[in-house]
Amino acid sequence: MIRKKYRLAARPAIPSLYDSEARKKPFSTDQTSFEAVVGTAKDEVAVASGALHKTWTKGDRRYFQYKTDAAIGGEYAILSGKYTVKESQWNNVVIRMYYHPDHAQNIDRMLRSVKASLAYFTEQFGPYPYKHFTVVERAGFGGGATADAGIIYYGEQYSLMNPDDSKNGFDLPYYILAHEVAHQWWGLARLTPANVEGAGVLIEGLAVYAGMQVLEQQYGDGHLRQYVNYLHSSYEMPRSLATPSLLQANEAFLYYRKGGLAMYALTKYIGKEKVNGALRSLLQKRISGALPLPTTLDLFQEIQQVTPDSLHYLLHDLFKANTYWRLKTKQFDAVQTKAGHWQVTLKVQAQKLVIDSTGTEKEVPMNDWLEVGIYEEGKGLNEPLYLQMHRIRSGEQTIKVTVPRKPDRGGIDPNNLMIDLRRDDNVMGVDE
Ligand SMILES: [Zn+2]
Repeated sequence: MIRKKYRLAARPAIPSLYDSEARKKPFSTDQTSFEAVVGTAKDEVAVASGALHKTWTKGDRRYFQYKTDAAIGGEYAILSGKYTVKESQWNNVVIRMYYHPDHAQNIDRMLRSVKASLAYFTEQFGPYPYKHFTVVERAGFGGGATADAGIIYYGEQYSLMNPDDSKNGFDLPYYILAHEVAHQWWGLARLTPANVEGAGVLIEGLAVYAGMQVLEQQYGDGHLRQYVNYLHSSYEMPRSLATPSLLQANEAFLYYRKGGLAMYALTKYIGKEKVNGALRSLLQKRISGALPLPTTLDLFQEIQQVTPDSLHYLLHDLFKANTYWRLKTKQFDAVQTKAGHWQVTLKVQAQKLVIDSTGTEKEVPMNDWLEVGIYEEGKGLNEPLYLQMHRIRSGEQTIKVTVPRKPDRGGIDPNNLMIDLRRDDNVMGVDE
């Protein structure tokens, strides 16, 4: 997260995405260079934005000179403490981590995440603009992390986190650092959007998505699924379903959760390479000045260009309308017809709804591509016996597929790519 989002959420009204005058105003303050000489107590270390150029002692004071080598956004902070400093390097970037000497527990893990993120985002989205990267613990119990250009601040709670490294576990500190590093591309001084609806999608939605990629790269599908489940679970809490579309998102829930889920779903339909290519193109246009202040309309256009016509309906559902699916498997039968040949019959029910900002539900006819998955006993969702996209229309219908080994369960949209408030009835087993 970055602190700006709280301010955005607290504002009475965010200018409309379709207000062309409002689209000329940036979301955050102008680009600036930064230089500071900070004096502190002799036994403390001072930290500020920028690369550490010089440090010296005079009398009973210690001094630190920080300077940026490229423009940063309008926000910075200055901290001082009895820090332990861990120094490392990624390519020509000097990484410095400042932490309380007793809070070393997750430092190596966080450093691994910073390095993996710098490498992955550079490869996918373009170069990191600075020669330094600073990660600094700040006083206070909170567990949140925030990002400014070239620097991440995090709360003391990180040393208490006990992440689960197992195959289907979840490494929270690793993920959070990847998310914060992602803001060096999405938000801050780089992709500063216009200050209109949807701005948070370009900052938080894309940082959530980018962080998920690094998590998956390090830990595989199991950790990613844990995170996708978490994004879905917040949908299941009591909340009004009457929200704007993702393009016009005006609250944190939409940018983070819905934004992350929509981008994740898209990777499963058109492939991660195409999604990342669209994001790289958006960022390049911003950096070259071709697109001074991007909006979600520009993001949509980039994504549309890499999506086949046959899936344009999906882009509409994910980004332009407030769409929900009600997907359910009502019957699952399997019979062996000959050796190595099992005939599976699924009876499924599907419905697609659009809910407008007043809460009115409207059913829309459906003829959507959805995953159909069949699974063996003892095997997880990441090891399907069968997983293919099928055309699914509104109402009840029967699907027949053949699999080579004895199936145990199956259903539609087993990986929950769509927003469905009842996820537990998508897949059912033989005995249910
Ligand atoms: Zn963020």
